[in-house]
Amino acid sequence: MHREGGCACGAIRFSIDAPLLGAGACHCTDCQKLAGGGPNYVALAPKGTVEVTQGEPKLYHRPGESGEDVTRAFCGNCGTPLWSVPASAPFLTIKVGAFDDYSDLAPQMHVYVSSAPSWHSLPADLPTFAKMPPPDVAPARRSGVG
Ligand SMILES: [Zn+2]
Ligand SMILES: [Zn+2]
Repeated sequence: MHREGGCACGAIRFSIDAPLLGAGACHCTDCQKLAGGGPNYVALAPKGTVEVTQGEPKLYHRPGESGEDVTRAFCGNCGTPLWSVPASAPFLTIKVGAFDDYSDLAPQMHVYVSSAPSWHSLPADLPTFAKMPPPDVAPARRSGVG
């Protein structure tokens, strides 16, 4: 499926043709900062599948809550967060809000809920994990690193 997206000001545009691996919401403290206080809604894509078609995202490196280095891409003009690349994972996480249309990208799980303030609403009908899901959760269902 072909998807396109970009930042709020339009300086950065990107496209992806690979099928997304899943979607989730991350409540880690870094994601709360990036989301302005809420959880971070992301979709997973295989590394190397995002093509930047306009502009050049700024990159910010910082260890995630797992301790692993995470590269976060954002628009240097308007500040829109775009995606994060965990150093060792086979996937990157794209902020669903960076897509032009993300109506079909409902989260399948909530992760790092141990970091969520009590007023973050957590759905009763979805799996929630204190941190990352355990390894026996299929990779296609894993989500939320950054
Ligand atoms: Zn922008
Ligand atoms: Zn996070």
